[in-house]
Amino acid sequence: MNQPTLQPWFDPSRCLIGGEWVGPVAGETLPLVNPSDGSEICRIARGREIDIDAAVAAAQEARDGAWGRMTALERGRILTRLGQLVLTRVDDLAQLEAADVGKPLTQARADAVALARYCEFYGGAADKVMGETIPYLAGYTVYTLREPHGVTGHIVPWNYPMQIIGRSVGAALAMGNACVLKPAEEACLTALAFADLAVQAGLPPGALNVVPGLGAEAGAALAGHPGIQHISFTGSVKTGVLIQTAAARNVVPVTLELGGKSPQLVFDDADIDAALPFLVNAGIQNAGQTCSASSRILVQRGIYDAVKARMSVAYRALTVGPAVEDMNLGPLISARQKEIVTGFLAQGADLTLAAEGRIAHNAPETGAYVKPTLFADVPPDHTLARDEIFGPVQVLIPFDTEEEAIAIANGTDYGLVASVWTRDGARQMRLARKLRSGQVFINNYGAGGGVELPFGGTGKSGHGREKGFEALYGFSQLKTVAAHHG
Ligand code: NAD
Repeated sequence: MNQPTLQPWFDPSRCLIGGEWVGPVAGETLPLVNPSDGSEICRIARGREIDIDAAVAAAQEARDGAWGRMTALERGRILTRLGQLVLTRVDDLAQLEAADVGKPLTQARADAVALARYCEFYGGAADKVMGETIPYLAGYTVYTLREPHGVTGHIVPWNYPMQIIGRSVGAALAMGNACVLKPAEEACLTALAFADLAVQAGLPPGALNVVPGLGAEAGAALAGHPGIQHISFTGSVKTGVLIQTAAARNVVPVTLELGGKSPQLVFDDADIDAALPFLVNAGIQNAGQTCSASSRILVQRGIYDAVKARMSVAYRALTVGPAVEDMNLGPLISARQKEIVTGFLAQGADLTLAAEGRIAHNAPETGAYVKPTLFADVPPDHTLARDEIFGPVQVLIPFDTEEEAIAIANGTDYGLVASVWTRDGARQMRLARKLRSGQVFINNYGAGGGVELPFGGTGKSGHGREKGFEALYGFSQLKTVAAHHG
């Protein structure tokens, strides 16, 4: 097996605070583990409240200093430069992510390119956010200004570090916020690499601060910090509730992106050839550890057996192996996540197993591998059809009518993404309105994940929108100016 040639060009045991790479005050570190074989990659900082305090103070200084005074055009140029720098380091970033997250190299490269694209998009958008003038009483001129919140906190998970940092920190910086980023303790190499590239791109000290550490320590300190004016969080519902509670105490807005149980609805008239790769890939990409993974496949009875047979063939061809081997799937993020997914699979013992993939013979025993698994004829109220598993597990659910499909699709606590496969134009329009979901795709799934497309959920999938131009509104607040001039 080729080991990844890991050459971080930065010291992974440090935090970036006020433009300086500093060790955590208590001098403690945490191990960073490669999930492909369970080995320790390096040690990262175990930031605590005192380090978060320093990062927030540095961000406040930046907000009140050079960064806060910078024009939107200048901010945009720095972000655009940062995007270009990221593009020159795609392979290095992909190597780091492959080792850290267990992501197959092709996917890790795609994530690095997406990070660059977020920087380009928000770099270009920075000076295009405008207020409006409002017709009002005689003698008044009224207009609105879009202003940054101030200091924003960003707590990100381990599944797509680069993409989530790009969409959240990229948009926040474009609007002129000063950011404090707390990456996940399981995966933070690309967050540190990104911060280093941001310094190289000319981002002023304190505009972006990064403090790795545990959720209950650095994460909780950031979420509850009185110096933060907005929090952006992606992760579990349980932690999302804690974050929103902490934000409520300080009366600051939050954006929560908490995952889902996203369905694809396949009707009798669907183009199965076109649908098939999306039905499978949307479930197994990143080993199913994707908030917008499609874990429920609802199929109309007339083509149910055909879809089940073809998906089963596709599953049997799937291979799981070390990230650097670039197979269909890599390992899960950790032994703990493997335990969670294996627990769900055990709960599926009463279900019909349609097909499984296989684990490559050279995958180390010490890696966090699970076989991708497809269950058939799953009752919509079964745990595996309702709960987010965050592993490569999909359930096939048959349905008869459009009404029944909508009821099943809308029948979980979540509402992040949904897709509809049908050639019937009227049905496409009806379902786009009736599905309770932040995004609806027609005859595709994910639309390539475009950075331009606003993204976020309803229900327990969270609230607020990231990505696209819409995110810039979330990372700013509106001020109304009413001038009386007679
Ligand atoms: P998590 O929600 O605990 O962690 C996400 C981030 O929140 C990490 O940076 C973590 O350090 C931080 N965090 C944890 N506790 C915190 C606290 N009390 N205060 C502030 N920050 C805190 O998720 P997890 O434990 O890594 O994964 C558990 C489950 O969450 C997964 O099985 C999956 O279902 C879900 N998940 C969803 C997403 C998503 O993209 N929606 C991402 C990761 C995990």
